[in-house]
Amino acid sequence: MIIQRVVLSSRPGKNGVPVAENFRLEQSAIADTIQAGQVRVRTLYLSVDPYMRCRMNEDTGSDYLLPWQLSEVADGGGIGVVEESKHQNLAKGDFVTSFNWPWQTAAILDGSLLQKLDPQLVSGRLSYFLGAAGITGLTALLGVKEKGHVAVGAGQTMVVSGAAGACGSLAGQIGRLEGCSRVVGIAGTDEKCSILVREMGFDAAINYKKGDVAEQLRELCPGGVDVYFDNVGGDISDTVIRQMNQNSHIILCGQISQYNKDVPYPPPLPPDIEKIRKERNITRERFLVLNYMDKQEASVLQLCQWIQEGKLKVRETVVEGLANIGAAFQSMMNGGNIGKQIVSISK
Ligand code: NAP
Repeated sequence: MIIQRVVLSSRPGKNGVPVAENFRLEQSAIADTIQAGQVRVRTLYLSVDPYMRCRMNEDTGSDYLLPWQLSEVADGGGIGVVEESKHQNLAKGDFVTSFNWPWQTAAILDGSLLQKLDPQLVSGRLSYFLGAAGITGLTALLGVKEKGHVAVGAGQTMVVSGAAGACGSLAGQIGRLEGCSRVVGIAGTDEKCSILVREMGFDAAINYKKGDVAEQLRELCPGGVDVYFDNVGGDISDTVIRQMNQNSHIILCGQISQYNKDVPYPPPLPPDIEKIRKERNITRERFLVLNYMDKQEASVLQLCQWIQEGKLKVRETVVEGLANIGAAFQSMMNGGNIGKQIVSISK
């Protein structure tokens, strides 16, 4: 059977900016018959995520991520429908997902490595299983719960950077649901800031590309910052940390501003900021959602319930066609998405 697939065509270099041309669409073939335990799936949705930048390097710099190989198919979070099954627990028509879905229009996969999805949980919005009801939502929820020390009635102020992105847009809403009394986002355009406040219930949002972020933070967080959900690192985070309170907490979710630089993860704070962190006893522990997968099932149910109740507002930026996945990745790395960046693959 003839299929389309996307391979890594070139590496951007550890300090380079990734571009769509680092990927190549090509025709390939999969076997016409499947073996016992296998399923043939048609791809419906693929996820592009910032961590993939590390997989473009020869050495990802982390022990849980394998590099993509040149001229080999790329992979990541994906969802598809089973078209033929020789696996006892999967049948034709089932919707399934995997963290290692190949970037191709159809594939033969080991059925035991797939998770079956219940579309009813997301009212048929299957792509949510890659975002708000998937690893992104889990990252936001478990980040807040495990590292945020948020308590109902404690009157905490939360700041979220990368706030209009996939994780950030959920993290701020979850911070509020879990008990924060004030939530302020930091994002890169006026449109994003407006969506955060109008749609997602943030109290305020700062466009970091306009005006003085420190001054705006002081105005918007007069009692200081108690919880900082950090998606970006770099100058923005240094500015927030300067305004954090004694015994406050950083949720070290990601450091996207540093991903095109050859620095260790997590990047160390500059000495003056590290001094503040220590003096004020601000926690900044590494957080990796994959370490909390024992909480996946209950957490996904919680996220789906909030979505169905309208308590968690979800935004997606959907790009159509496998041929456009490289461009979608490039755009996401440049902040071009609002909410989760999804690539939809039609028949
Ligand atoms: P996303 O949707 O691409 O959101 C990231 C946001 O950061 C973008 O909206 C972008 O918009 C902003 N941004 C990009 N470059 C920036 C820069 N140089 N300075 C400031 N802001 C910048 O990505 P995501 O899926 O939400 O992921 C967010 C972070 O979480 C990433 O760092 C990712 O690696 C991390 N993550 C961690 C885990 C974990 O287990 N710890 C799991 C998943 C994701 P604007 O610049 O326009 O605001």
